Amino acid sequence: MKLLSIKILYKTAAIALVCLMTIAMTSCGGGSSKASSQAVASEAVSSEPQDTAEESEASSSQQESEPEIPTENDKQTTFGTVLVTGDKVNIRAEAKSDAKVTGRAAAGTVLALLKNRGEDEEFYKVSYGGKEAYIAASVSTQLSGTGVQAASKGEKLIALTFDDGPDKNLTPQLLDILKSEEVQATFFVLGSAAKVNPSVIKRAAEEGHQIASHTYNHKDLTSISEAKLKSEINDTAKVIEQNAGSKPIALRPPYGAYNAAVLNAVDVNVIIWSIDPMDWKFKDAEIVYQNVVNVARDGDIVLMHDVHASSVEAMKSIIPALKLRGFSFVTIEKLIELRSTPAHGKVYNDLRNAA
Ligand SMILES: [Zn+2]
Repeated sequence: MKLLSIKILYKTAAIALVCLMTIAMTSCGGGSSKASSQAVASEAVSSEPQDTAEESEASSSQQESEPEIPTENDKQTTFGTVLVTGDKVNIRAEAKSDAKVTGRAAAGTVLALLKNRGEDEEFYKVSYGGKEAYIAASVSTQLSGTGVQAASKGEKLIALTFDDGPDKNLTPQLLDILKSEEVQATFFVLGSAAKVNPSVIKRAAEEGHQIASHTYNHKDLTSISEAKLKSEINDTAKVIEQNAGSKPIALRPPYGAYNAAVLNAVDVNVIIWSIDPMDWKFKDAEIVYQNVVNVARDGDIVLMHDVHASSVEAMKSIIPALKLRGFSFVTIEKLIELRSTPAHGKVYNDLRNAA
């Protein structure tokens, strides 16, 4: 019973996150729940005067420091999230306005909530760069969750996914990183990009990554004709088959937008996401790092884009940090194989353990 309500809470959290990320969307984010995104947006902008840094300590680069990682023995794990609404907000070692500043978070950063905030408390206890820290409630807003839950047992799986490529230069750089970390990922490629960079797809497939479809021209599939929809799907499948050796078995619709017509037209799984660090918007490796590592949970599907140098750069920190936290990296195909049940249907935002 308790577990169930926690699950529902988290789902709400995920939806709120996705909605939030829909705001000002110009590229490849979520494309639904516009009404609730407004709600989250107005919450986010209603913050008090910003706690901008006045102290002289240099902002610490959390990516470079060794994070304190919760171990499997830890009794608790977080499920709530806090959004940073002010810019360059001080992250402090204690819940006091004169406590040591241990870092600065940019607006839009999502932090994991570690403890409920009492009504008379002015700080949220959060996780920043893998460490316990505090952020003033006046410059942040709680997105979801109400505290902590018992740690889940068993393996922690996560699927890294990259959209909009392949890019001639950046995707090979990413493949180098994945190779050296011995991590497999999923590439949701555009047919149009695959056509001009066939060798990149070929290499990715040869190195064990999953090549999946992100359509040919990145159109909103819910607003095109059935004939056009079919060609978007089929033309992409063809170019993938030619270069990766087999047809794609997963589709990520552009903007995460799909409807019954889209589901009818495709015979593969439709993969959305549970973590969107908004890499395409921030183009900042540190924010991308924080927005993935702070909230990652077992079964998550992480949305990123291998067409931004900052996103590729962020992977150099994200992968080691998640490894330290006990995550194993799997392709979408593998995640589905391990976790999917008939009850799941064919659309996935995440594949958490059903237990
Ligand atoms: Zn896209």
